[in-house]
Amino acid sequence: MNFSQQLIDWYIVNKRSLPWRDTKNPYYIWLSEVILQQTRVNQGLPYYKSFVKKYPTVEDLAHAPQDQVLKLWQGLGYYSRARNLQTAAVQIIDNNSKFPDNYKDLLRLKGVGEYTAAAIASFAYGEAVAVVDGNVYRVLSRIYGVATPINIPAGVKEFKSLAGKLLDKNDPATYNQAIMEFGALQCVPKNPNCNICPFINNCVAYQENRITELPVKIKKTKVKNLFHHYLVIQTPSGKTVLSQRDTSSIWAGLFEFPYIESSGALLPQEITTNKLFRELVGGSRFRESVYNQQPIVHKLSHRKVHAYFWIIEVDEELSHSIDIIEVKTKPVHVLMERFIKEFWQKK
Ligand code: SF4
Repeated sequence: MNFSQQLIDWYIVNKRSLPWRDTKNPYYIWLSEVILQQTRVNQGLPYYKSFVKKYPTVEDLAHAPQDQVLKLWQGLGYYSRARNLQTAAVQIIDNNSKFPDNYKDLLRLKGVGEYTAAAIASFAYGEAVAVVDGNVYRVLSRIYGVATPINIPAGVKEFKSLAGKLLDKNDPATYNQAIMEFGALQCVPKNPNCNICPFINNCVAYQENRITELPVKIKKTKVKNLFHHYLVIQTPSGKTVLSQRDTSSIWAGLFEFPYIESSGALLPQEITTNKLFRELVGGSRFRESVYNQQPIVHKLSHRKVHAYFWIIEVDEELSHSIDIIEVKTKPVHVLMERFIKEFWQKK
């Protein structure tokens, strides 16, 4: 099958008429692509029109007050995209107002990734680079029966390579528009109407009844945030208290300061009124300070530990305490290691 020709034939008959399709102006195309990353065409259209009206040139956008740009963006979410848009506009102005005219240079603009660069380069300049967005992943994985997950590096590479091979090098602009439109209107995520699809006889997903399986996306486990408040007790003779993790936990058998677990940052009074703290310190007088206002963060496969270290200077010796020097000989986990290195080994 001549994939690209069939696709373009379908596009010519079915395409929607959209203002950014009638222009080669890279600035307008860029605006439309950034807006459409945030929302669907129907919702994005009024935003596109407002931006073009208010800032008809990239210079206008670059010189606009940021608050005004953000106001115009309001409702689209991800305000960093609007800020990046303006930063990139300033980059263009600083480069003698020369809008980058190729894929490689477009990637240098703040916030412009591979997809947006490919879209601008092909739509505005006819450069032969294939766009790969969610629509493209879906269309290609179904028609060619590619089950490699689209959210792992090997999948990204495979789909990019396939998209590059299929690209119509003579008319990359129309081809790229066509495949995206095909994904948006025909090969939709749920219940595509395959009976009217021009690829019905060649589509692997249809032929093998795998439409709902493709594209494959690996479910990422939700990362759980843990907040640990380690109590670094220091007695007058230079001793501290350590505890050892039990064998069923992460970091099994390793040593650490006793810690309080919470659902977020804690105030000093929340530490000093905690049961564990009272048990450790007893009736001793103390002075407390937090060593790190910003937690030391350590990522595990599906957990993220935010560690605060509280320095507690007590005025009495405590039972079960050990010499601080001994702490350095104990096996400890990475958070402890970082703290010890930064706090005690500097001394
Ligand atoms: S036959 Fe169905 S699943 Fe296959 S490309 Fe067409 S619309 Fe998509």
